[in-house]
Amino acid sequence: MEDCLFCKIAANLVPADKVFENDELLVFKDIYPAAPVHFLIIPKVHISTLSDCRGRDTGMLGRMLALVPLLTAGHGCEVKMEVDGSRSGGFKTLINTGPDGGQEIYHLHMHVIGGGRIRGAMKVETAALQQQA
Ligand code: 5GP
Ligand code: ZN
Repeated sequence: MEDCLFCKIAANLVPADKVFENDELLVFKDIYPAAPVHFLIIPKVHISTLSDCRGRDTGMLGRMLALVPLLTAGHGCEVKMEVDGSRSGGFKTLINTGPDGGQEIYHLHMHVIGGGRIRGAMKVETAALQQQA
């Protein structure tokens, strides 16, 4: 097995607060949540980054995304239409990739964050990017 924290979580060698599991995917709570709901969706097989994904991974990546509304609806994060026609609720999905993308754990994972406004750490540092341009 890879010397990888998320592989160890998938193999039950490291504990995690799991919320969903099937043969292909595992969902568990982020240990440092950025909002009341903060899940990580991972494939059980080791893929380091989104940059390593190819056509063979299309189905798995699609199923990761298709799982999101099921998870979020179960935790009160679905988008709701208010009586005045405005929308409320919702969530953020995020895949950090490589050093420039802020990836810390090198096992592909999608963040699903909701249940409140998201802290700024998940936002791109646009001021720094503008200075580089
Ligand atoms: P990244 O920065 O790689 O996109 O996100 C890695 C995420 O993994 C971080 O949000 C971090 O809080 C989470 N994390 C790191 N170590 C652990 C752990 O041992 N257990 C769980 N559940 N989450 C972890
Ligand atoms: Zn891994």
